[in-house]
Amino acid sequence: MKFTKKQIDRYSRQIILKKIGVIGQKKLLKASVLIVGAGGLGSPIAIYLAALGIGKIGIIDKDNVEISNLSRQIIFSTNDIKKSKSAVAINKLKKINPDIQVQSFKKKLTIKNISQVAKNFDLIVDGSDNFRTRFLINDYCLKNKKILVSGAISKFDGQVYTFNFSKKNSPCLRCFISHTPTNLDVDNCEYEGVLGTLGGIIGSIQANEVAKEILGIGDTLCGYILIIDALKLTFRKVKLNKRSDCYCNGKK
Ligand SMILES: [Zn+2]
Repeated sequence: MKFTKKQIDRYSRQIILKKIGVIGQKKLLKASVLIVGAGGLGSPIAIYLAALGIGKIGIIDKDNVEISNLSRQIIFSTNDIKKSKSAVAINKLKKINPDIQVQSFKKKLTIKNISQVAKNFDLIVDGSDNFRTRFLINDYCLKNKKILVSGAISKFDGQVYTFNFSKKNSPCLRCFISHTPTNLDVDNCEYEGVLGTLGGIIGSIQANEVAKEILGIGDTLCGYILIIDALKLTFRKVKLNKRSDCYCNGKK
């Protein structure tokens, strides 16, 4: 891959960084990332990943834009109401960076379609809003040894965790949520509310984790959970241990 003059200009602030350089920028352009959910988290994740030059971005979301989304889902505008979220998001990404390939999936991610949807992506970013989807992505990434960068927001709180399942001792989501929640399909933001900026804080950290995983730089959150309280503005990084009786250790 040889950079054009336009590409060198576009990515110049990243290429100038010693830890990235031309080689790192090529890694980003060769990477493929699937974003699950074009919502409060998916919006900033998609915008940043497109801007920094992730070569192939997929977005899956079954919904259309609603007026109640606009307080936090910053990839959408008022005139996008009733349009398909994944299609609108992909069109915005193409405008941000015509250099990249984009793919939209207007459907719900299910156990039946996850292999087909996710197979051509190296890394999955979870910006979904319910436990059923979170567990589904966790189990798929675990089985296929893919990197998962997951985030969650509710009220004034947020969490980020990264699992690199190519590493033998990586814990999984089920290691710290050992019981099956009763509210598997509930969207907490809808029932409990959320401050719009939480999506930006957590989604930007997720995009940052994705970049570091692809570039192989810095210390990622792998094996930790970052818990953010936006009211007190505290950031706690807590070590997650692989549970010996967990699904990821071959237990049912
Ligand atoms: Zn586990």
